[in-house]
Amino acid sequence: MTLKFHNTLTGHLDEFISQTPGQVSLYTCGPTVYDYPHIGNWAAYIYWDILVRTLIANDYNVTRVMNLTDVGHLVSDADEGEDKLEKGARREGKTAWEVAKFYSNVFLEGMNRLGLIMPQYITPATEYIPQQIDMVRTLKAKGVTYQIDDGIYFDTSKFPRYADFAHLDLDALQAGARVEFNPQKRNPSDFALWKFTPNGEKRDMEWEFDGRMGFPGWHIECSAMALAHLGKTLDIHTGGIDHIPVHHTNEIAQSETANGVRFSNYWMHNNFLKVDGSKFSKSLGNGYTLDNLEAKGYSLLDFRMFLLQGHYKSESNFTFDNLTSARNRLNNWRNIATLRHQIHDTLQDDNEKGNDDKSISLYATSQAIIEAVNNDLGTPEALKIIDDAFSKIVNAKLTNIHRQAFVQLIETIDAVLGLQLMNTTPDISDDIKRIILERNQARADKDWSKSDKLRDQLLTEGIVIRDTNSEAIWEYKN
Ligand SMILES: [Zn+2]
Repeated sequence: MTLKFHNTLTGHLDEFISQTPGQVSLYTCGPTVYDYPHIGNWAAYIYWDILVRTLIANDYNVTRVMNLTDVGHLVSDADEGEDKLEKGARREGKTAWEVAKFYSNVFLEGMNRLGLIMPQYITPATEYIPQQIDMVRTLKAKGVTYQIDDGIYFDTSKFPRYADFAHLDLDALQAGARVEFNPQKRNPSDFALWKFTPNGEKRDMEWEFDGRMGFPGWHIECSAMALAHLGKTLDIHTGGIDHIPVHHTNEIAQSETANGVRFSNYWMHNNFLKVDGSKFSKSLGNGYTLDNLEAKGYSLLDFRMFLLQGHYKSESNFTFDNLTSARNRLNNWRNIATLRHQIHDTLQDDNEKGNDDKSISLYATSQAIIEAVNNDLGTPEALKIIDDAFSKIVNAKLTNIHRQAFVQLIETIDAVLGLQLMNTTPDISDDIKRIILERNQARADKDWSKSDKLRDQLLTEGIVIRDTNSEAIWEYKN
């Protein structure tokens, strides 16, 4: 099967070929851990979870690094302003170390709550200071750095391909350089590799480098930690589209200058999530957290379903109406997943080798889901394929569903999309099964009042009965 991803490096939908057959090295730019992540932050990690699941579904062994930025990310995203961690520390009356630890835990917990596959390496920048210093030394030795009052900078004019990745217009950047542009910098696009602690100040987080205290610039951590665990050339590097012109452009300049080879063969970038058509902003109060969604009665799987309805490269719009529709769709899917408990025991699994009419279309559906995500993580197409298959199943007689192929379909949906249909649709208890049988008998006996009474009893147990021409099918009451 062919895997294709939109590669920012080439601007094309490229066939994916890893450097080593069967192995993928993947780097994901992680969060800056100074505040609660909102759903727009989480969207990216859910999209990249689909990437990991897609690679695994194609039998790749994925080695993945994700950083936690716990130092050096300045408020302006450039090299001006306060460190976000130090700012968070002032806001909360804690040290930067305490803030980093607290929000790192919030983030890791959130990953678990969202059912995201954990990277093999989750690397806080503060734990890789020697590696970052090493890389700055390498760059210094290559003559591409210069030192000014507030730090050591990368001279972007020494990296001829600097503008290529983001198609930057460096002349326009020069002309448009802001008034507060640091006059000691040689070029507006030059960026800090290492910042000095200002004279007379003491930071919570600072390290000694060549006799002076300081801290790493924001970009160097990703280059250093990718090198430490994945080597000089990555198969895939992911991040948000906002990273293209500065952060990723700078990572490429540092890594390719230091290592002398291409930094990553594929670059994938996710688009933004908006809320009610607006960007996230403090003043709008629309930066919903995972807790906010749960407090309103939604599950985090509802949120996952909502996101998968859009494509990672397109802007999505979050509204609670959209989230409600996603929840309804997911509940509907769960009820269909329960049919596996209701397909009566026949010998079909043993006797039929899975190549009869009943099974063929289900096996083909599993295959089609994987093909949809193989085409640049086409989750909207995958969901449509599932809807089509499920609408046929819901209208089929149970005896016409091949149980083994059906279970495989549900497992494929869970493996590729992480919707946890198996986990969230347990079988009913024997007691409830007995009530259903009694009710079926009452109907057969045309004892309508007894049958109605038993139906009400089931409702109180959270079970709804759907009568078809030939069968009574149970569903969860949503
Ligand atoms: Zn990064």
